Amino acid sequence: MKQLAEGVWRLDEFPRPTINIYLAGDVLIDAGRRWDLGRIRKQTADRELSMLALTHVHPDHQGAAKPICEKREIPLACHEDDVDAMEGRRPVQEAHPRNLYNRVIKRIWEGPPYKVERPFRQGDEIAGFEVIHAPGHARGEVIFWRQADRVAICGDVVRNMSYATTLPGVREPPELFTYDVAENRRSIRKLAELRPALTLPGHGPVISGHEEIERLAEGIGA
Ligand SMILES: [Zn+2]
Repeated sequence: MKQLAEGVWRLDEFPRPTINIYLAGDVLIDAGRRWDLGRIRKQTADRELSMLALTHVHPDHQGAAKPICEKREIPLACHEDDVDAMEGRRPVQEAHPRNLYNRVIKRIWEGPPYKVERPFRQGDEIAGFEVIHAPGHARGEVIFWRQADRVAICGDVVRNMSYATTLPGVREPPELFTYDVAENRRSIRKLAELRPALTLPGHGPVISGHEEIERLAEGIGA
């Protein structure tokens, strides 16, 4: 695990961070794809865990949620607007569900439904971070924001990775996986307005400073 900020770590992934899972204090943030279960188990084996909190309910963030929560006997938390997706009453991937790529992802990445014991909402506090609702990519997408040192764990509001090359670059999430692009652009603006010192995205390495996010927000006219 690599420490990125006070009390915040990112689980290791070889050869570089692509599907990020963070630990904030004793709260695990996101659960990768189904097959990320092994690395989560191994790397958190000697850590106290009190909860699994999701930035949003998509197949590359909720994949190992059920077995982790069962094995570690911890509650699952996500924004109230994604509870129905996590519990199996709405498709996890709403955008272009019949696209071949999304059908494959559903089959090999997506984890089974699981009870959300701790739904949260705008303004709640998780592991010392404030919940900021930032929908568009997913209905229940959130930014976990810590004002004291201006750290944002932003899920997929922005990514810092090209899916073609896996090299860094601050971009919008792909439209293929985003149910409302215009809404997500408003959420990117929200993130830029926080002026984060450090942004920990769902995909790719840490984004230092707010300039790149600001440029993206301006470029897309959000
Ligand atoms: Zn993602």
